[in-house]
Amino acid sequence: MTWSFSLGRILGSELRVHVTFFLLLAWVGFAAYSSGGLAAAVENLIFVLALFACVVAHEFGHALMARRYGIKTPDITLLPIGGLARLERMPENPMQEVWVALAGPAVNVVIWVLLVLLGAGMPLETLAQIDSTGPGLLNRLAYVNLLLAAFNMIPAFPMDGGRVFRALLCLKMDRVKATRVAALAGQAVAVGFGFLGLSTGNALLVLIAVFVFVAANAESQDVTMRSVARRVLARDAMITEFHALSPDDTLATAAQAVIHTTQHEFPVLSPDGKLQGFVTRNRLFAALADETPRSNPATSIMEPDIPKVRLTDGLEAVLDGLHKGAPAIAVCTAAGAMVGYITRENIGELMVLNGR
Ligand SMILES: [Zn+2]
Repeated sequence: MTWSFSLGRILGSELRVHVTFFLLLAWVGFAAYSSGGLAAAVENLIFVLALFACVVAHEFGHALMARRYGIKTPDITLLPIGGLARLERMPENPMQEVWVALAGPAVNVVIWVLLVLLGAGMPLETLAQIDSTGPGLLNRLAYVNLLLAAFNMIPAFPMDGGRVFRALLCLKMDRVKATRVAALAGQAVAVGFGFLGLSTGNALLVLIAVFVFVAANAESQDVTMRSVARRVLARDAMITEFHALSPDDTLATAAQAVIHTTQHEFPVLSPDGKLQGFVTRNRLFAALADETPRSNPATSIMEPDIPKVRLTDGLEAVLDGLHKGAPAIAVCTAAGAMVGYITRENIGELMVLNGR
């Protein structure tokens, strides 16, 4: 999910907006302009900004509740379906997870109550005209908050209701299985939205369906991976049979190594077995394509900053290093000699073998 950009920091969290959020804004704005002209479009702009503020408030509901349990929220991303607060970690206790999940929709219910107290009326017919200025700003905002709360309480991933659902399932089964059930429910809901969107010609609903489907799957995979990572140590996952380069090898030697092995990453080891860095196949190809002389030292294209773990470290540390973009994670003895390394590819193989 890199299709988002930053708006700045609020209350300790970076506020990011996903590009699809603007599709929602554009859809609402266009509908108003084509039916009511400029005045309607201006009112809609105000409405959209207020809606934006309500979605932000919803996410801060999650973030502030999580903070009560000592969990930080590094960033919040706004999406058409209400946004995602990325918590630093999930609460261990299922009931804490329930409270964090409920805090978001609860904020929208509170806003709705406040708007009703301010005089927002609730004739149900206006719901169909939520994208026009007919029903009045206050009424529309009240409705939108009720919709945000209701939509997010659907008991399926990735909605907040899905987290509540999973936490309740966790009381009966393990977390991986509970996540799979909640994700499956999410994909069933997504298929339902997809059909509804296609049959009514509502492109936004189809977009939401695709997003829900993908997000439900990603959540399920992530939890499976984390659960495997918790059970496996670095020494069980590392590559121990590999071809290493020495610090005085040239690019020509490295090119030979690429041809004679199936490796994509080559550790450069000094004579005492200490790791100096990794030469990757991609960097080598790029150097040769730039017509760098083949007699240049291989260390000139080496990536020197390779994260190191101990043999008995858990795989979670390895996953974090790979997520930050390292080509490999070195597994070293207490004395500092490299005995193996772990790449994204062999983590993938491990997941296939241990993941179910
Ligand atoms: Zn939420």
